[in-house]
Amino acid sequence: MWYEMDCCGCGCFGFLRKLHQCLISFRGSGTRFSRELLLPDNMEGADGTFYNGDSTNPSDGGSYRSVKCSEEILLSRARNGLICREVPVKETRNVILSEDENGNKMVNEYVRECKIGSGSYGKVVLYRSIKDGKQYAIKVFHKSHLLKMRVAPSETAMTDVLREVSIMKMLDHPNIVNLIEVIDDPNTDHFYMVLEYVEGKWVCEGTGLGESTSRRYLRDIVAGLMYLHAHNIVHGDIKPDNLLVTSNGKVKIGDFSVSQVFEDDNDVLRRSPGTPVFTAPECCLGLTYHGKAADTWAVGVTLYCMVLGQYPFLGDTLQDTYDKIVNNPLFMPDDINPELKNLLEGLLCKDPKHRITLHALAEHPWVIGEEGPIPEYLCRCRRISSARKNQ
Ligand code: ADP
Ligand code: MG
Repeated sequence: MWYEMDCCGCGCFGFLRKLHQCLISFRGSGTRFSRELLLPDNMEGADGTFYNGDSTNPSDGGSYRSVKCSEEILLSRARNGLICREVPVKETRNVILSEDENGNKMVNEYVRECKIGSGSYGKVVLYRSIKDGKQYAIKVFHKSHLLKMRVAPSETAMTDVLREVSIMKMLDHPNIVNLIEVIDDPNTDHFYMVLEYVEGKWVCEGTGLGESTSRRYLRDIVAGLMYLHAHNIVHGDIKPDNLLVTSNGKVKIGDFSVSQVFEDDNDVLRRSPGTPVFTAPECCLGLTYHGKAADTWAVGVTLYCMVLGQYPFLGDTLQDTYDKIVNNPLFMPDDINPELKNLLEGLLCKDPKHRITLHALAEHPWVIGEEGPIPEYLCRCRRISSARKNQ
């Protein structure tokens, strides 16, 4: 499905004017961030907290869908048999810290190998299980640290981590990182998320990945994201850092730390805690926005990075970056494949109402390539509910 360019033709202008007015008033806030804070994986504030000053409160559209709510949605989906997983995530309530014969640290049956990532709230460490010999990526948190970190007036980072866990407990898809086990011993300060280990990742800056690899990666990202959106889950932080690549070149979506789950199709959010350069124009305002369309914009920024090796909109400060996201036209080289150009224009359409949808994207000529449209995944809960309907 070719994307019809309503966005930059005429449909957007009213919307852009509104955005512009809001940004002018937003400027007065005097927020200043160094350039590196605009880029991935460096969102910590100077005081070590993460609260971005939003006026979120427990009754607003963004933060009230917190742990309790995602737990409730999870429970109600479980009660109705609408959970995709056949095997539930293992929950372990006791931790035994020890060492193996070579002096390597162990947590239960997992032997520590090396640190592989550090994130906003904790670190990610590679472990090997002595039970099955397989490697696992374990996200390790300190509960006392999480409880001290305020992310909104009524929420701490612990809320985000528990929400991340409850969302991941619902999921089972080949393009989503699998959560295997949660280890939470009430008598210790550590909290562990044991994840399947995905060995590779790509770097988006530089010369780009080329069209055929980018297409292959995009197809995987879209397959995973369509599955999430079909289950009313907004990822909230789609970017290369959170998209892991397996040894045979499959992309898996990870990092559900800012994701939200909704009871129905209403995906209105307020707080936009994602990474600035991947933020959609409508989120730059701090008003409400639709989470699914904002995810789709982030897919556009990711695709742009994959094919062109640079960010489409990046300024020297947060405000400058937001200004560019909202106002600057999309730059594309003259010799770009016209189908790819059309797709990027569709994804990076400033007006969310005219932005290409994931379903249209799945049938776009550039995405189809030689493989055909991206099929919708028939997950376990969809199979169950369609079997019920046919009874
Ligand atoms: P954060 O919310 O702190 O960004 P992430 O889940 O993104 O946490 O993890 C931080 C980094 O750790 C990732 O960018 C990635 O490099 C690495 N990582 C996370 N999960 C895995 C995994 N399952 N396999 C391999 N590496 C991982
Ligand atoms: Mg991350």
